[in-house]
Amino acid sequence: MIRQVGLYYSEALGRYGFPAGHPLGEDRQAAFLMEANARGLDRQVLPLTARQATRAEIERFHTHRYVDRVQAAEARGSAFLDGGDTPVFPGLYDAAATVVGAAVDGVSQIMTGQCLRTFQPIGGLHHARRDDAAGFCVFNDIGVVIETLRLEFQVQRIAYVDIDVHHGDGVFYAYEDDPELVFADIHEDGRVLYPGTGHAAESGRGKARGTKLNIPLEPGADDRAFAQAWTRVVAHVRAFRPQFFLFQCGADGLEGDPLAHLRYSPQVHAQAARSLCHLAQEYAAGRIMAFGGGGYDRHNLAMAWCAVLRELIEA
Ligand SMILES: [Zn+2]
Repeated sequence: MIRQVGLYYSEALGRYGFPAGHPLGEDRQAAFLMEANARGLDRQVLPLTARQATRAEIERFHTHRYVDRVQAAEARGSAFLDGGDTPVFPGLYDAAATVVGAAVDGVSQIMTGQCLRTFQPIGGLHHARRDDAAGFCVFNDIGVVIETLRLEFQVQRIAYVDIDVHHGDGVFYAYEDDPELVFADIHEDGRVLYPGTGHAAESGRGKARGTKLNIPLEPGADDRAFAQAWTRVVAHVRAFRPQFFLFQCGADGLEGDPLAHLRYSPQVHAQAARSLCHLAQEYAAGRIMAFGGGGYDRHNLAMAWCAVLRELIEA
């Protein structure tokens, strides 16, 4: 079996970042790459550059009207796509479409056997809705991946595991009543942090009841609290024997993140990545895609994402 890990980075991907001191700035990819290079990790992967997703690919998840709205907002020079979190800037559409392009390319790299695992640090835009931007997220690359796996490759039962400090509401609500989207999300309690959702009682609706696991943690929760929660994630995922794994490994749960209040070390990211790689080996012929997600302290995101990449290479 090919053990190759594909890593997506390019100038075009790096441009997915907002101007004027916004926490999700354009310098995040470079901060990660510098550390990956210092550790020699970049020499153990297949470097991949992303193309832009086509409109038809983006519309596998998003509504036609919303994609029109993004283009019009950029042409008009609007200030924000949403209530004030997600600014518009020149080149926004192309940058957001490139994040989706990397994700769609990753699916085909894995499904055609070119790579076993992929990582796109600039990706995992889990707050975007089918018809709206939210929380720094324009297009939901993960939603497009889920739709692409089903449409093009007949892969139905997909696990989505999210350890970003924020609840993955854009993915959760899009698939809340979908019994084949196995969802597990450990995040800081929505009562104190954006987006305010992901309560423990939210377990899926209708036929999907029980397929979703939300674990909110108290502010200040550390590696021990994470490890306890993680055993529940593993049991949950195992119960559904997913055919493909998606991992959103946001780095904003690390201690010192300027937007949140958890106290993880990068060990959390290593543990989760290692564990999911093993589960993917067991149930999904090894197939896993990882997405960088949030993380607003540059040192922290470099540490967390390199911990993930090391496990993708070695686990
Ligand atoms: Zn986040």
